[in-house]
Amino acid sequence: MVDKPETKDNEVYNSDKSLKLFQKRKDILARKDLLPLELLDLAEFAFNNQLKTYEVADSVLSDEVDLTPLNEVMSGKPLLARALFSYDLEESLNLFDTLLKYLKKSAGNLNVSAEIIESEILKDSELPGDSFQKYLEGDDHFFRTFGEKTPDSPRTLNFLTQTSITPAIVKSAEKIHLALPQDHTWTFGHCPLCGSLPFISSLQGKEGARHLHCSFCHTDFRFLRMVCPFCQEKKEACFEYFTVKEHPGFRVDVCKTCNMYIKTADFRQMDKKILPVMDDLESLTLDILARNEGYNRPTLSAWGF
Ligand SMILES: [Zn+2]
Ligand SMILES: [Zn+2]
Repeated sequence: MVDKPETKDNEVYNSDKSLKLFQKRKDILARKDLLPLELLDLAEFAFNNQLKTYEVADSVLSDEVDLTPLNEVMSGKPLLARALFSYDLEESLNLFDTLLKYLKKSAGNLNVSAEIIESEILKDSELPGDSFQKYLEGDDHFFRTFGEKTPDSPRTLNFLTQTSITPAIVKSAEKIHLALPQDHTWTFGHCPLCGSLPFISSLQGKEGARHLHCSFCHTDFRFLRMVCPFCQEKKEACFEYFTVKEHPGFRVDVCKTCNMYIKTADFRQMDKKILPVMDDLESLTLDILARNEGYNRPTLSAWGF
């Protein structure tokens, strides 16, 4: 008998292979000239440091944390609402600082925004911690208002906050993941663990099982194939998808009932592995196309912009 592990590791953050995979895909992407190199370098620096933070972050969720009973989770309540998460604050603040220093040295608008954020922190040293709290609460108004101070790149504080806190959130989520039924197909589109919406989806395995990837705790959960994750519409006539030849392996699923879209990575016919944060970055231009068609995305990207 093998003992059941007490936590379920997040494969993206826990794998030595993830950074190599990220770098390999980044190099291919850089040659395609679809995204600015500075953006790709920033993403690589951020992801590399996220993996390091993940390694050292403590799972600070108490064993006594009050989880929602399973029968209520099955009918749509999150196991632990995101606002109730505890996480390794110290390591998240360290990563925030590391990323802010990198941005200060970067070219373009980002260094200007980074200088402004740094001067705001000198006036109010609680700003990073407060931003984490606002992010837990899903308070986008706070970030939009702050963004007026950095008009050249209004989502800079989002990027810093979301990127810094995510490894510690993932570590906390792992601790309670096994309280959920494993290999279950969920019938609602929000994350059964924390209640947040997915930022991307993927088709996996021979059958093309549809998986959604949570924008907050990065849980990967299986979902019904022909249902809108955002409004639960089931009528096939209400769904469409489009693809573009510059992005093989990606499609944009749109719902004509709620006007939302989600990008889907389907690499089953390709020599390519799913890496949701990279999949989202690589397909950024599809977001522009979807918005031009009048569809909305209910979450920010995996990078907070
Ligand atoms: Zn989640
Ligand atoms: Zn819908």
